[in-house]
Amino acid sequence: MALTKDHILDALRGVMHPSGEDLVARGCVINIAVCDDQASVRVCMTQGEPNTPQPEKAQLTRMGSVIDATVRGAASEQGIANLQLITEFVDHGGNVVMRLSGGKVTTPESKRPEQDTPQNKDATGVPGVKHIIAVGAGKGGVGKSTVAVNLAVGLARKGHAVGLLDGDIYGPSLPTMMGLDAMEQQVLEGALQPFYVHGVKCITMGKLVDTDKPLIWRGPMAHGAFNQLVERTQWGELDYLIIDLPPGTGDVPLTLAQSVQLAGAVVVCTPQKVAQDDAVRASGMFESLGVEVLGVVENMSFFIGDDGKEYDIFGRGGAQTMAQKLGHPFLGAVPINMALRSNGDSGRPSDNFDPKTAGGEALPKALESMVDQFEAQVTLAQMGKGASKPTLSIS
Ligand code: ADP
Repeated sequence: MALTKDHILDALRGVMHPSGEDLVARGCVINIAVCDDQASVRVCMTQGEPNTPQPEKAQLTRMGSVIDATVRGAASEQGIANLQLITEFVDHGGNVVMRLSGGKVTTPESKRPEQDTPQNKDATGVPGVKHIIAVGAGKGGVGKSTVAVNLAVGLARKGHAVGLLDGDIYGPSLPTMMGLDAMEQQVLEGALQPFYVHGVKCITMGKLVDTDKPLIWRGPMAHGAFNQLVERTQWGELDYLIIDLPPGTGDVPLTLAQSVQLAGAVVVCTPQKVAQDDAVRASGMFESLGVEVLGVVENMSFFIGDDGKEYDIFGRGGAQTMAQKLGHPFLGAVPINMALRSNGDSGRPSDNFDPKTAGGEALPKALESMVDQFEAQVTLAQMGKGASKPTLSIS
């Protein structure tokens, strides 16, 4: 027996909103993450009513206890006696207004400054940034940048404050994929100002150097260039900073793991055996750097023909099987899709989330599900983690 998202959702149908409707029917349940005996539930009590103020603390605390008891009841029906549960109430912007965990209630005002306020530089190593996640792949051309871009845009569409750093300093693709070509990099008092496009703050080496000339940066130069991009950008406050790494297992991931505290890494892979072998190496590299692999995305998983049938060109499921073997969560399968390629080439990633401009429902659904899984895994990783910096063990 295992507790699933659906068990929790079904149980929450029994929890009533003050309006008389249940929480699920009213759309208040924003996100549920579950893995073994750990779960998190995110609720917005004023969903769909942007002008209504958040309920009083006492009311949220009462509602939180009901949710807590209900979810624990669902867990115990599945044989889980000691569920580790976090219940978060959020406002319309996705900001947490109250968190209940292990019998403790915290509100943003009651947090000690050194706990996890955005200003705390020690949390991630970058002031104002809550979670830094690297997106890597064992080899080029598997869709790593595509996944990083769509992850960032998808998170922003869900109301998160998101930054995207093109860590592929050798072959930056963000200028094209995010549509930055006609824009100029702004610098204010020595700080790089990120471009704000598709709801995401982005920075890329592609807007700082002449991309027509090959970049031949080795070791310390690559290290310095990358660190400057991370540190000299005025990010402001971010929920997620997504870093699109160069392909392979080189200097940049090492620099990254040394200079910031990563919440984890996402490995992108196509289903073929050769791509999987590279992805296994990439995953091994993250682990040797002490960086948790949050999950694997299978890109170019299958193709949907004009006849509506799904064709498994590269052997769908290969990356999923690999993820299972390595014990990593599977974050989802992204189909081969003409719109995804053309929206990438023309810098319109938001179009991937609209069935009218994404060639149908399949792509938006796949991307949204990937974003949901990603959020869930970041939450779970934070629950199970102390705040220690990764230790390097390189042989
Ligand atoms: P990487 O970062 O791994 O080198 P990219 O994300 O740059 O790979 O993708 C390489 C090319 O493949 C791009 O033109 C991109 O638009 C295209 N592409 C990536 N994933 C898909 C997909 N699922 N369907 C169609 N085209 C894709």
